[in-house]
Amino acid sequence: MRHRLFRGGVHPDGGKELTRDKAITPVAPGGIHVFPLGQHIGAPCLPLVEKGQEVLRGQLIASPPEGKLGVSIHSSVSGKVRAIEVRPIVGGRALSIVVESDGQAREVDFDERPRWEELSREEILPIVSGSGIVGLGGACFPTSVKLSPPPDAPIDTVILNGAECEPYLTCDDRVMREHAEDIVNGTKLLRRIFPDARVVVGLEENKPEAMEALRKAYDAASLGEVEVKGLPVMYPQGSEKQLIYAVTGRAVPSGKLPCAVGCLVQNVATVRNMYLAVAKGRPLMDRVVTVTGEAVAQPGNYLVPLGTLVADLLEAIGGFREQPGKVIAGGPMMGFALTRLDVPVVKGTSGLVAQLRSATLVEPEQDCIRCGRCVEVCPMGLEPYRLNRLALLEDYDAFVDEGGMDCIECGSCSYTCPSMRYLVQSLREAKRTAGARRRK
Ligand code: SF4
Ligand code: SF4
Repeated sequence: MRHRLFRGGVHPDGGKELTRDKAITPVAPGGIHVFPLGQHIGAPCLPLVEKGQEVLRGQLIASPPEGKLGVSIHSSVSGKVRAIEVRPIVGGRALSIVVESDGQAREVDFDERPRWEELSREEILPIVSGSGIVGLGGACFPTSVKLSPPPDAPIDTVILNGAECEPYLTCDDRVMREHAEDIVNGTKLLRRIFPDARVVVGLEENKPEAMEALRKAYDAASLGEVEVKGLPVMYPQGSEKQLIYAVTGRAVPSGKLPCAVGCLVQNVATVRNMYLAVAKGRPLMDRVVTVTGEAVAQPGNYLVPLGTLVADLLEAIGGFREQPGKVIAGGPMMGFALTRLDVPVVKGTSGLVAQLRSATLVEPEQDCIRCGRCVEVCPMGLEPYRLNRLALLEDYDAFVDEGGMDCIECGSCSYTCPSMRYLVQSLREAKRTAGARRRK
């Protein structure tokens, strides 16, 4: 079959063989759990608990300010609130609720909804929002908001994103293989919200078992036609705009959202958690994290209570085989190198990758030789070497004029640059500064 492929892209080393056959294993380290109040795109939540208060697993501990974009936060452990204070998180510091686990995982009574398949759109959306569900692919956009596109942008195609194109990560692959029925049930909810839309699950062809599991589960369900579509293995296939193009041939215009071309994209694990929230009454408390890399003693896919400190998680699974040169939160292409390990696993933590020192030796940046490779691989059609120059000159007006804000920070340009230019790092920084100036 001929495949439609977005422009550009790269083939970074997979590293998926370390964990792709490792079944999801629950881990529950004790001790301190840290819940940053801003784990989603939108306004930080307001705490609903006080220092010294006892909490249960599944208890609502923070909610977004009235009328602001955001989703709730629930405790993933039972225990006592030790503090509400600023704590280190990935990429900075944030006001957080600190809960010390009592190790007993005492839960609130979750309200199951036996007639969940009959719920209306108006009933489903508040449950999804109140259950703290965000895009689990890493974007952390509130799911209920994404499921409410403006009335003048009707959705005709719902795409479930199972591409997982980041090297090393296999958490979505495992969720699709082990929880295909939950994803099908989540799809039923999407059908209640968008009854006339075509549904496509897009995943790279390097996940044949996941494809098989989903096809079987959809065939067994009375759900109308759902296409499980294999896509070429090419990074960044899982990026929204690239996935939409691969599935529908539609190009999302610069500065627009997928709904501008009638599409809605949801990560497969997000769809599964929608089902758990709506049918089982279980808010988002845990997530599957791929903990991997050549420096990890026991690479695998672990079901981790949110708020668990990275250091505690690593210790619970056997620690390092060898002292790592770098630990990355997320994947090696789009993730953030950690400067400390006492940061929590949050809703957007899809992976932790610990690389050996030999793999992380940083070559010094060389002058750009105008080879054009970064332009060839940029999936957004940008000229990264020019944007890099404008970023270094702090010429933010020109940076925006040249399309810099369209950069999806995929890192393909840095990956391919023979001069080891710090392209994506400079572009990310420039986007942040230009965005802040625009808001001012
Ligand atoms: S400029 Fe941005 S979108 Fe283009 S390759 Fe570099 S990081 Fe990716
Ligand atoms: S790939 Fe590197 S050296 Fe080549 S044009 Fe781009 S920035 Fe310059």
